[in-house]
Parts: sequence; C-alpha cells; structure tokens
Amino acid sequence: MRFVSPLLKRAIYPALHRTGFLNGISLDAGYAVVNYHGVVPSDYSSVDKFLDGNLVSVEVFRKQLQFLKAHYSIIQPEDFLAWVAQGKTLPARAVLVTCDDGLLNTLTEMFPVLQQEGVPCLFFVTAASCSDKPEMLWYEELYHLMRSKPLDALAEQLPADSKGEVQPPGNFQSEWWSMVKRASQLDAKARHDWMELVRAHSGGALPGCEERWRLLNSSELRKLSDAGMTIGAHTRTHPVLSLCREEEARSEIQGSKQEIEHALGRQLWAFAYPFGNPATMGGREFSLTQEAGFSCAFLNVEYWATAHPRFAIARTHVTADMSLAEFSAHLSGLHCRLQRAVGS
Ligand SMILES: [Zn+2]
Repeated sequence: MRFVSPLLKRAIYPALHRTGFLNGISLDAGYAVVNYHGVVPSDYSSVDKFLDGNLVSVEVFRKQLQFLKAHYSIIQPEDFLAWVAQGKTLPARAVLVTCDDGLLNTLTEMFPVLQQEGVPCLFFVTAASCSDKPEMLWYEELYHLMRSKPLDALAEQLPADSKGEVQPPGNFQSEWWSMVKRASQLDAKARHDWMELVRAHSGGALPGCEERWRLLNSSELRKLSDAGMTIGAHTRTHPVLSLCREEEARSEIQGSKQEIEHALGRQLWAFAYPFGNPATMGGREFSLTQEAGFSCAFLNVEYWATAHPRFAIARTHVTADMSLAEFSAHLSGLHCRLQRAVGS
C-alpha cells in the first residue's frame, strides 16, 4: 500500500472526486464518522509539523463541513445514540462529526465555524477539562520538553518498555513515543510527579499560543455543552490504555465518565479511546467501556473487526495533509476497502 498510496492520493482520488463518483458509493457501515483534533488558531505558526499534523486550518474545516452538508446527512450525536442503543434508523449517508482531546481551540476557533455552518459535534474531552487550570496534554508537553533537553537519567525512572523494545537513538519521534508508552505504565499520580521532574530538568520554555496547546477548563467546557454541543469522555489523563494496569485503566475510563458528568450535571453516553488504534488498546478496553456504562465507544481507525461492534466504532481521522478528494475517499469507505484488498 505504501507504493500505491501516492498514486491514489495524487491521481485516482482527485479524479474520482471530480466526477462525483465517491458521492454515490454506498457506505459499508451505513454511516461514517469523521474525527478532528482541533483547528489551527489564527495567530499560531506551527512549531512542529509532527504534532500539528492532526489539526486542520479554519478554511479547510469549513470546506469539509460544507462538503459533508452537500453530500451526506449530518446527524445529531443523539441520533447516533438512538441508532446504537434503540436501533432507530439513520438517514442514508449519515455522517457524525466528532472531535477529540478538548483543546481550547475547539471553543475559540472550531465552535464558531460549527455554529455558522449549523453542524452539531460530539466532543471527547479528558477529565482535565473539569478543572479550572488544566495543562497541556502530557504527551505533547513531553515532546516539547524532550526537544529542549534529552531526558538523561529521568528516562531510567520509568518502567521498561513492556515488550522489551529498546529504541536505538537517533529517531526523536520513536524515542518520544517509547517514553510515552513507558510513562503510560505509571499510574496517573506517579506520571504527574515524573512530569514535574521532567519540567524542572528541562527548564525549557513551552511554546506560546494557549489556544493551540491548553485544554479547555471547566467553564469553557460548559460553554460548549450549554451551546448544544454533545460531550463524551476521553479518559482522565490520556494514557496508552493497554499499558495501564487493569485497575488504572478502569479508573481512567470509569473515572472520566463520573468526573465529567459531575462537572456538567448531565449523563455521558459516548467514549473515545486515546490514540484509538490496535497498538494502544484491545479487548480489555472494549469490556471496560461497556462495564463503565457507556452506550458506545469510538476508535481512531477506519477499520477493526472486533466482537464488540458498539464499543469499537470506526472513525476517519482527519489530518492536516488530507485533500478534499482524500477526505471524500476516506469517508466513502473506498480508501479502507482498497487497503483491505491489498492486505495492509
Ligand atoms: Zn486524544
């Protein structure tokens, strides 16, 4: 697929998009779910393409919403709940819009566009957004701190990689991801304490632009909710769930539901797994979301055949480098079908 992708991306998808072919394909699941991670704030200039690759520009976001309005039936999150929990029918070409993490820009940049376009969205936030002074996502902060200064001996304070893998030095992103996995084995308090040590050790300044990096606080979260947006849970502290001890994974999932429900005074029915792919979660997490009382839970991949369909709902993860033709090919299910056909 690695060799096929550039051809699909540059030639085939644009051609199919131009002819309108992709808008006539029937959706495999009967619906599609699109997943964002935020919008680039207007006064922000990218400090790292790797981390910023999950955010789209305001212009692209608006164009994608207008495309969905023209070619799909955008549904309310509660329509999705009625389908999943009561078997109510969804309209043809139903699409649900979702957004993970709860960065401040979801309120300042994304929400105004959603309002202007009249599009509802299901926002998945962590329990950090129940506090008055939330910080950054810890793994994004770790990325910046490691960029400022190598961890040195602080790395040795973390549990070893659970698979015994050792990252050869030289590839920064692999080294960082290895630390994210190792730190995910700590419980939330121990990881918080370790991050304090990393901050003191690094002394590096964090990047500016609060809207890009900070998580929503409790009053900002309430604004989104009071404006009619639907809120779901995304764990308490966003670890790699499969690397947590079972009690910790349960607390991350169940605890986020309880804390956010308490902060908002309303019930949560949807959950999104952090990172949401087979490398970061599995059967135990499907059971834990069910046990916690959610009606459904969302992945961050387009296909994963499991025995728990309601708790493994596939989504199209929108990235900054995705053209409208690619966006259309992913949502139509064609991209996923082609990937499966070539066995990758
Ligand atoms: Zn996330």
